[in-house]
Amino acid sequence: MTPRVAIVGAGFGGIATAIELRRAGIESFTLYERAPELGGVWWHNDYPGSACDIPSALYSYSYAQRRDWSRPCPSRDEVLRYLQGVAAEHGITERVRTGCEITEARFDAARCGWTLRTADGETIEADVLVLGTGQLSRPVIPPIAGRDDFTGAQFHSAEWDHSVPLAGRRVTVIGTGATAVQVVPQLAGRVAHLDVVQRSAAWILPRQNEEYAPWVRSAIARVPGLQALRRQFLRAFGVAVTAGLTVNPRFNLPWKLWSSAYLRSQVRDPELRAKLTPSDAFGCKRILFSSAYLESLQAPNVDLVTERVTSVTPSGVRFADGSAREADVIVWATGFADALVTPLDVIGREGRHLADVWRDGERAHHGMTVHGFPNAFVLYGPNTNLGSGSIIEMLEAQSSYIAQAIGDLLPEPGAALEVRAEAQAASNAALEDRMGSTVWMSCDSWYRHGHTGRVTRNWPGFVHEYTRAVASPDPADFRVLRPLPPGVPAPAPTHRTPA
Ligand code: NAP
Repeated sequence: MTPRVAIVGAGFGGIATAIELRRAGIESFTLYERAPELGGVWWHNDYPGSACDIPSALYSYSYAQRRDWSRPCPSRDEVLRYLQGVAAEHGITERVRTGCEITEARFDAARCGWTLRTADGETIEADVLVLGTGQLSRPVIPPIAGRDDFTGAQFHSAEWDHSVPLAGRRVTVIGTGATAVQVVPQLAGRVAHLDVVQRSAAWILPRQNEEYAPWVRSAIARVPGLQALRRQFLRAFGVAVTAGLTVNPRFNLPWKLWSSAYLRSQVRDPELRAKLTPSDAFGCKRILFSSAYLESLQAPNVDLVTERVTSVTPSGVRFADGSAREADVIVWATGFADALVTPLDVIGREGRHLADVWRDGERAHHGMTVHGFPNAFVLYGPNTNLGSGSIIEMLEAQSSYIAQAIGDLLPEPGAALEVRAEAQAASNAALEDRMGSTVWMSCDSWYRHGHTGRVTRNWPGFVHEYTRAVASPDPADFRVLRPLPPGVPAPAPTHRTPA
């Protein structure tokens, strides 16, 4: 008998873990997915222009390389089809319970397992909990005064309302991150007028993304080793950029010069160029890739607005300089929640809520296990995001680690593994040491925790350093727990501090 594993979230991470569990001979797992289809962020983010800005030769599983991508950075639909295809090939699709939102997971010390509760009030028992909810699953709209008084349509980019007509209307996009640079070029040609509201300028690199010519496709499909070579090249580029982000910012100079030259070549108007010139260090915020964004900002019906938004009025947006702009539709391309895992309430061995344990910034051992939360693993957890490279490599490594921990370290299904506090503290101390020299310490971004400023999202090193560190779980990092003897009361849940 193998432990029952509940995987929450069926995106790239959850699917990778299911595949690894099958490889380890563990068939007793179910994926729970709140959306009607598997796909995670790739299911939710279906805004116009949604696409991967990392070439798919790298942004794909190492063991499921496809040679027939239509272009280097395919559309969201193509990425979603890929992920759904991989899930089907590995017999995972039928193991996903879609439309099932897990709202609470509570560790039951009496039986050393997890009890999950769904949004519909159903109770599910499992031995192991894998949280595959990711870092970008909860859209956030900033609490700007008057938002509810707006009489037009408004929605977040990750909750695009396709029923709202855009043609011939005045649209305001708030935010200029990785999402906005994909949305804006799509809207510019469709709407009557587009205001793009920028709080801070970003470093942008061009993204050549023409459809592959038939001969290129055929070469990729037929020439042995070509696909692997492209993957290695992309990985090497990721390593070169990571050196500048994590070792010494001076290594960023070539990319910074490239980005500046690209901006100069695209934007002739000095006033607009000044607005688009970043003030923070290269790579401190997410580097953006687009060959269409800068051009679209110069369309006659598009304005880049750099005043701070102070309020939303019934008919538009008001700014700090007292000006106001009318809008029929507001698109909030304002990113995702600061806190990981929440609002899913995870309650650990001593009745403590993960949200409380992480109140001053998320910490986990290798980004995956948290002391006090036995038999629980986090995918794409604290300090496992990358400033450059493909997150899929990180997810593959985590999935393999988790499958090994469950398959090799758990002595029997009724037992639980808990990471030792010392192991977690040691890996975090090493991480903090390195974080000091990263570029991410020099500006505000979603990589940092809201009120403590700790960089809680990013891995402060190279991908291969992480994958080597988690190649196999160290048994010394864990202790084994067994069910409480009959009559010994389990700790009651503590009161959860309001967010
Ligand atoms: P984001 O990077 O967090 O960007 C949010 C934007 O909203 C920023 O420009 C931010 O300004 C702005 N903003 C937030 N609050 C604001 C306010 N009160 N007033 C004005 N502007 C405000 O979110 P995102 O663009 O959705 O991207 C999130 C992450 O998803 C990315 O970093 C990336 O990792 C991932 N992503 C990946 C792809 C891909 O192709 N692989 C595509 C899209 C997204 P500041 O810059 O000043 O903070």
